[in-house]
Amino acid sequence: MELSDVAADLTEVLLTEKQISDKIAELSRLIERDYEGERPLLVGVLKGAVMVMADLARELKLHIDMDWMAVSSYGAGTQSSGVVRILKDLDSDLHGRKVLIVEDIIDSGLTLSWLVKNLRARGADSVEICALLRKPEAAKVQVDVKYVGFDIPNAFVVGYGLDYAEKYRNLRGVGILAPHVYA
Ligand code: 5GP
Repeated sequence: MELSDVAADLTEVLLTEKQISDKIAELSRLIERDYEGERPLLVGVLKGAVMVMADLARELKLHIDMDWMAVSSYGAGTQSSGVVRILKDLDSDLHGRKVLIVEDIIDSGLTLSWLVKNLRARGADSVEICALLRKPEAAKVQVDVKYVGFDIPNAFVVGYGLDYAEKYRNLRGVGILAPHVYA
């Protein structure tokens, strides 16, 4: 679905499909350089990271493994709860693995800071983060993100995996959701 198909639900187009794919290519070159000769385990955080994972994994000229976790985040609202609960755990053993967490967005940072600690405690060799979007003004905890696509304003965004009440995940770009949609 195109951003223009839901133009009435958006106040602003933030990122087009082209801007996103250019950025994914750029990040992939950095990741290839840093993991040369390695076989990293990409851990996608469901469901938002599905699109980033699919595009990043195909862009990478590296052998990788892929696994998925689901953790609780916003439910149907737009505010971070800070409560992290594992809804679906990994299938992989992390001992000695180089783990790269693939995320759609870092807002407060609460989810990721918890996740990094959790995965490190499982014996991973390294745990790094690749996030397409980051909201610097919303940060509540400092998270060391090695690969970041775009810093964006502190607004609720949808598209490219990001939903509001499960809608808009299939948009090709990212836009700011109009307040009338969630009012
Ligand atoms: P954090 O723990 O960093 O506050 O939140 C992380 C999670 O909250 C993200 O993985 C995402 O699921 C959700 N989230 C944060 N900001 C947004 C946003 O602007 N739009 C949407 N759709 N989800 C968001």
